[in-house]
Amino acid sequence: MQFPAEPFRIKVVERIKKTTREERDRLIREAGFNVFNLPAESIYVDLLTDSGTSAMSDYQWAGIMLGDESYAGSKNYYHFEAAVKRIFGFKNIIPTHQGRSAENLLFSVALKEGDIVPNNIHFDTTRANVMHKHGVPVDLAIDEAMDPEIGHPFKGNMDPAKLERLFQEVGAERIPLVMLTVTNNSAGGQPVSMENVRAVSAIARKYQRPLFIDACRFAENCYFIKEREAGYARKSVFEIACELFSHADGCTMSAKKDGLVNIGGFIAMNDDAWAEKAANLLIVVEGFPTYGGLAGRDLEAIARGLEEVLDEDYLAFRIGQIRYLGEMLHKAGVPFVRPVGGHAVFLNAKAFLPHIPRQQYPGQALVVALYREAGIRAVEIGGLMFGEKDAAGGEKFPELELVRLAVPRRVYTSMHMSYVADSIIDIHKKRDTIRGLRLIHEAPLLRHFTARMEEIS
Ligand SMILES: *Cc1c(COP(=O)(O)O)cnc(C)c1O
Repeated sequence: MQFPAEPFRIKVVERIKKTTREERDRLIREAGFNVFNLPAESIYVDLLTDSGTSAMSDYQWAGIMLGDESYAGSKNYYHFEAAVKRIFGFKNIIPTHQGRSAENLLFSVALKEGDIVPNNIHFDTTRANVMHKHGVPVDLAIDEAMDPEIGHPFKGNMDPAKLERLFQEVGAERIPLVMLTVTNNSAGGQPVSMENVRAVSAIARKYQRPLFIDACRFAENCYFIKEREAGYARKSVFEIACELFSHADGCTMSAKKDGLVNIGGFIAMNDDAWAEKAANLLIVVEGFPTYGGLAGRDLEAIARGLEEVLDEDYLAFRIGQIRYLGEMLHKAGVPFVRPVGGHAVFLNAKAFLPHIPRQQYPGQALVVALYREAGIRAVEIGGLMFGEKDAAGGEKFPELELVRLAVPRRVYTSMHMSYVADSIIDIHKKRDTIRGLRLIHEAPLLRHFTARMEEIS
């Protein structure tokens, strides 16, 4: 494979501290074995998330200086609106401070109690926002999505037969919209094919329901389409993105991902009635519709980020860097979800730590080891994040027990990726020494953010 050489050079640097194993051992104990409680300064390579962690370009920073902070009608809003329209094509565009507030607006407008929202797989904030509006999120991913070993070029797809069956079973009255997440974050950042977008769109149209794309990683998804789907090799990623959104009626977006900024998002849609309701609610909870909880300069940075994210040299590097990390781990026999997705490598903790039972959170145990041994911060996506207590006091665990290594955009060099791979390979060699964890404190919703644990001796 080709070495993923950076298509940028470095103009400003940010120091990162090196800590000792002793310091990290103390810090992770103080943090209740939860890496969300760690001071970020004590981390060497932070792969907690690719959300809001991007490095902005000189072009974006220059745009920051052009911020027009007028309360209404800022020139940056018009630039932002034009940049979004050019790619996404939707008629009404409403800025928000991040993706989840776009979701909150959408479900506030679209859902009534007991309504069902189908998606390939709901991202955790999307699921939480559907439930917050008393809706029922339903995941309809293809069966392959749940098998960490199966290769599939578009493992993020929704199963159109499952969607059709859902409409037949519950009726379109109870399904106000269909959603599709590109790339499918919760299935490992796996892409959705254009063919699948078309098929899902056709079913939604048949039942006269709008299709909304959760567009956070649209550029990465479209790059995979160009690489893997017949008929797209000669199209630009920009053209592919335009085609993808032409099959939908709206989208929610966290610009903290493929907007290449540190804060921001939007909701866009063709329907005027829903857009008007969303904008009225926005004024109550976020701000006036030409800034939506952001500063003018933030809107300028998003407008410029959306131009840059479609640069194919950038995308080849981005996808290539994550693939490179995967290749190094694969050669050393470290188990992870294959094929590698667009923004992260997902270690398969069940296979990595077979000696730790699910009740002792093997994924979180691996997260703790990554930090303690190497100063790397990852996140568990498994029993701690998605486990549910049952009536008998036991716990129901999700199928997969993963550890996500999400790579921030344009932040780390491919040498950092080599450091990460070497560290994981070392930990894999001494995996028998890693111990399980016991929960000692948890919140009722999204417990992984605040849970505290102790190590089992
Ligand atoms: C990040 C993300 C969101 C939520 O966006 P925030 O900006 O974090 O609120 C929604 N869906 C997907 C697929 C995401 O990755």
